[in-house]
Amino acid sequence: MIDLRSDTLTQPSREMLLRILDAPLGDSGRLDENGRGGDPTVNKLEDLAAELTGKERAILLPSGTMGNHVAMLTYCRPGDVVLMDSLQHIYRTEKATCDPRFGQIRPIFYHLTPDGYPDTREIAGILEKESPKLICIENTHNGAGGTYIPLPVLAELRRLADQAGIPLHMDGARLFNAAVATESCAKEICSYVDSVMFCISKGLGAPIGSLLCGGTDFILEASGTRKLLGGNMRQAGIIAAAGQYALKHNIPSLAEDHRRAKLAWQALAGMKTIRVPEKIQTNILILDIAQAGISVEEFIQRAKNMGIWLSRSTDTHARMVFYRDITDEQAFQAAEIINQLDRELSVC
Ligand SMILES: *Cc1c(COP(=O)(O)O)cnc(C)c1O
Repeated sequence: MIDLRSDTLTQPSREMLLRILDAPLGDSGRLDENGRGGDPTVNKLEDLAAELTGKERAILLPSGTMGNHVAMLTYCRPGDVVLMDSLQHIYRTEKATCDPRFGQIRPIFYHLTPDGYPDTREIAGILEKESPKLICIENTHNGAGGTYIPLPVLAELRRLADQAGIPLHMDGARLFNAAVATESCAKEICSYVDSVMFCISKGLGAPIGSLLCGGTDFILEASGTRKLLGGNMRQAGIIAAAGQYALKHNIPSLAEDHRRAKLAWQALAGMKTIRVPEKIQTNILILDIAQAGISVEEFIQRAKNMGIWLSRSTDTHARMVFYRDITDEQAFQAAEIINQLDRELSVC
């Protein structure tokens, strides 16, 4: 089975696992007078994350979901309005920040351009009428098909946030995919935002963890929010050791994931009923099956019977995600299966 459901399926390598054995550990949830936890390996990872994103400080969290929650619940209070797009992970998947039982944040939605990045003209218009407390962006954008935000668009978003006097938070679960795709560094991308969350548990190949990075005051406050949400961990160095390995060794190979996604995408040109996007930007390839005459669940089941496992993106879209454990050969095989399915769906 070629499992293309998500880049969260990456397995930690042996070299990565070996780093865990020798990592010095402490109680990461017990903070000193400077707000630093007692696990030296976690502290090292947090310093590395701050350095790579060009932010003053960072904190480790068990998941990206918690990282976004901590950021939003640090910036906002119940009833506050937040600008986001409705395809965003924080809205579509995480939900708790906008749930009446939990965060009680009121979302206002902007749209994405056909290229999959925020429509800044629309945002400018919204800011003339509304007074949100925060703008949230996603880079790369999962639901839009792994699309990145070009640097000039990030600069414009920064300008709009400054004009409104509000912070800009980036869900950068796949920040380093954006950096690789735009041939820039993470630091440059993050220079336009106040805070960023990125995952070490996706394409970078670590088993667990995400980092929230930002200014010192924000991160100190966020560390209090993390505790409220139950995100304080103890000998979390066993996570952080793998995370350090991931950040030191696994960023360049994201380009390989992008190349394999492109191989598959190119091999899918000329299908009759299944549509692929006009461009492929990173490691996510979304298949539009609106014209295929079957439900996305049925489509995924048929593909699975033929040897590839996809995930559902929307009612009419399935998702293929490429990651370090998928070979060129498997990318071609996956495309061959989708082509075969397209032929079968085109005759009936
Ligand atoms: C995966 C993901 C998250 C959340 O990360 P988890 O560690 O799965 O909670 C947030 N945002 C985006 C865009 C993601 O793809």
